[in-house]
Amino acid sequence: ASEDPNALFGSGWLDATYKERPIPVRTRFPPEPNGFLHIGHAKAIMVNFGFARYHGGKCFLRYDDTNPAKEEEKYFTAIKDMVEWLGFSPYAITYSSDHFDKLYSLAEKLITKDKAYVCHCTKEEVNMGRGGPDNRGERKACAHRNRPVEGSLTDFRAMRDGKYEAGEAHLRMKSALTNPDVGNTMMWDVAAYRVVEKNHHHRTGDTWKIYPTYDFAHCLCDFFEGISHSLCTVEFFLSRTVYNWVLAALDLKQMDLADLENKKTPTLNSNVSASELDEYYDDTNGGPIQREYGRLNVEGTILSKRKIALLVEGGKATAKDGSEKTLPPAVRDWDDPRLFTLVAIRRRGIPPGALIKFVSTLGVSPALTNIEIVKFESIVRSYLEEKVPRLSLVLDPIRVTITNLPDDHLEELDVAFHAKIPSYGSHTVPFTKTIYIDRSDFREQDDPDFFRLAPGKSVGLTGGNDKKLRTIKATSFTKDPTTGLVTDVSVTLEPSDSPKPKAFIHWIGGPPFGANSKLSPVTAEVRLHNALFRSDKPDELDWKTGGYIDDLNPDSEIVFPNALIECGFDEVRRRAPWPAAEGEKEGAIMGMASYAVRFQGLRTAYFCVDADATAEKVVLNRIVTLKEDAGK
Ligand code: ATP
Ligand code: MG
Ligand code: MG
Repeated sequence: ASEDPNALFGSGWLDATYKERPIPVRTRFPPEPNGFLHIGHAKAIMVNFGFARYHGGKCFLRYDDTNPAKEEEKYFTAIKDMVEWLGFSPYAITYSSDHFDKLYSLAEKLITKDKAYVCHCTKEEVNMGRGGPDNRGERKACAHRNRPVEGSLTDFRAMRDGKYEAGEAHLRMKSALTNPDVGNTMMWDVAAYRVVEKNHHHRTGDTWKIYPTYDFAHCLCDFFEGISHSLCTVEFFLSRTVYNWVLAALDLKQMDLADLENKKTPTLNSNVSASELDEYYDDTNGGPIQREYGRLNVEGTILSKRKIALLVEGGKATAKDGSEKTLPPAVRDWDDPRLFTLVAIRRRGIPPGALIKFVSTLGVSPALTNIEIVKFESIVRSYLEEKVPRLSLVLDPIRVTITNLPDDHLEELDVAFHAKIPSYGSHTVPFTKTIYIDRSDFREQDDPDFFRLAPGKSVGLTGGNDKKLRTIKATSFTKDPTTGLVTDVSVTLEPSDSPKPKAFIHWIGGPPFGANSKLSPVTAEVRLHNALFRSDKPDELDWKTGGYIDDLNPDSEIVFPNALIECGFDEVRRRAPWPAAEGEKEGAIMGMASYAVRFQGLRTAYFCVDADATAEKVVLNRIVTLKEDAGK
C-alpha cells in the first residue's frame, strides 16, 4: 500500500494485467448515465484513466447509453465534471449509441453465421430452458434455437421495425446453452438485443425500438474504439467468456470459437482462484481483453442509486403491517455532504487529491475492498494536515471580557497560518478587551479533570509569533434568564510570568479595532455532518417497506448558525487554492466561480466553504474532525 498514485501501476494487479498484453494502452471508463457517480467509481476512474496515463496511453470516457429509459442529461454533465475534478481528461468522449448502426449490422451478421436467433419465449420459458430457477436442472434448446437463419433475420428486422412489443421477441446468442459441460451461465444463450417499451433515446431519438445488451455491445464498442485492456469489476468475471465469444464469432478476435463453446468453464459455485481462471483464458492474441478488479465498497453508508434516490426524493411505501407510509426526504439532494456520491464528497470539501490518495492506499486486486468510513476520513485528515492554513473558528461563541484591560486595548498579534509551514506566511489577529471563546471551553462548575476555563480557573490563549504567554482566569459569569445559557464571562489577564497553564484554548478578538475594521471576525453558518444512519450496516435496513426511516440519525446534521471566524479568513479565501487543491479546477465547488476554500479551524475540525455561501453569508461544512473519535 502506498500514497503514491503511480504505485498502483508499476507492480501488482495492474502491472500483471499490462504484462499480459504489453501493447499501447487504450482504456475506457464506461458509466451508465443513469445516476450520479459514487466513491466506488473513483476507483474505476483511477484504474482506467490512471492505467492509461501511467503507460502513456489513452482513456476514453464512454457513456454506456444503451438503456434509454433511465438516462437523463444532468447525469452526463455530472459524470464528466467528476472525471475532470479528479484530475483526468478523457482522450475522447464517446457514447455506446454512436455505434448503434454498426452494432445492428453485426447482430445481423451474427444471425447470418447462425450464431444468434430471435426467440419468442417468455421470461419463464427462457429460465426453464436454462435449468430452472437454480440453474441446476436440465438445459434445453427452445423451439426457436434451431430455426432457419432466414426466419431469424426476418424476425430481427421486424423487431427493429416495431412489429413486436417489449417481451415478445429478443435476439439471443447461440453459444453453449445445450452443452452440459459448460457451467458458465453467461454462455447459455444470453440476450443480444431486446425490444424496449420506453424507447425514446436522448441522442438517437425515436430511431430505435430495439437496444443492444451490455453483453453484446460492450466488447464491440471496445473493439471499435481500439481498447487494449477492458477493465471492469469482478462481478463481470463470467462475462469474460461471452465477451471473447462475441468477438470471435464475428471474426474480430483470433480465438477458437468451438473451444470457447466446449471448454468446461468454471461453475458459479466453484472455488477456483483468480489466477487459475486467468490461465484458463488464452485471449491475449489480438482484440481487447477484459480483466476484472475488485469493487470498492464503503461501510456505514449506502451507494445504491435506488436507495439514494429514496433518501433524496422520499416516497410512499406500505409498511409491514399494511399501513401506508410517507417517506420524507432524508437529505437535501444528491450532493448532500452526508452522502458518498462524488458530488457530495466534493461539496463536503474533500479535495480530489485526498480521494486519489485513498484509492492508492487501498491498492487494486480482484478482491472486494470493504472500507469503514473512519478509515476514509483518516486518510482525508492526514492529506489535509499540511496542505491547508489554520485559523481560529468558534462554533458557539460566548463573550469574554478581560476586566483588567482598558476599553480600547488593541494588540495586533502576528499569527502564522500554519505553525510547521513558514511559506504560508502569517496574518494579524487583534487581541482586545473583548474576546470570544467556544461554549464548550467554559464550565459553570469547575471539576478537577477539566483544564479549561471555569470560575477561579486559569487557561492559556493560543498565541502569536511573539510567544508571549496570555493566561486568563475566570472571575464571574452571567446567564440569559430565558435560555439559561451563559452569555458573558468576566476574566482577568494574569501576569505574563505566571505559571504555564495546563491547557490552551483558541479565541477570537472582538471590537474595538480602532480604524482597522479589517480585523473584524466573520460570522458563518457551520454545518457538522455525522453518519446518516444509526446502523453500521444501513444496506441491511428495511428499504422495501420504508423501515429505514426509523434508523435515521437525528444528529446527522448539526448547524451552528452564529459561528465566528477570525479576520484571517479573508486572506485564506483570497489566496485559495491552497496546496490541498492541487490540480483542482476553479469553480470546483458547485455554483461558485472560485476555488474551494479550505482551512483547519484550530482545535475544532477541517472546514470548507459550502456551495450555499453567498457574497453576504459564509456557510461552511466540516470536512473531517481533527481526531478519529471527535464529533461522535
Ligand atoms: P451502481 O450499480 O453501484 O450504481 P454501476 O456498476 O451500475 O454502479 P456503472 O455506471 O455501470 O455503475 O459503472 C461504471 C464503471 O464503474 C463500471 O466499469 C463499474 O464496474 C465501475 N464501478 C461501479 N461501482 C464500482 C465500485 N463500487 N467499485 C469499483 N468500480 C465500480
Ligand atoms: Mg451499471
Ligand atoms: Mg449497477
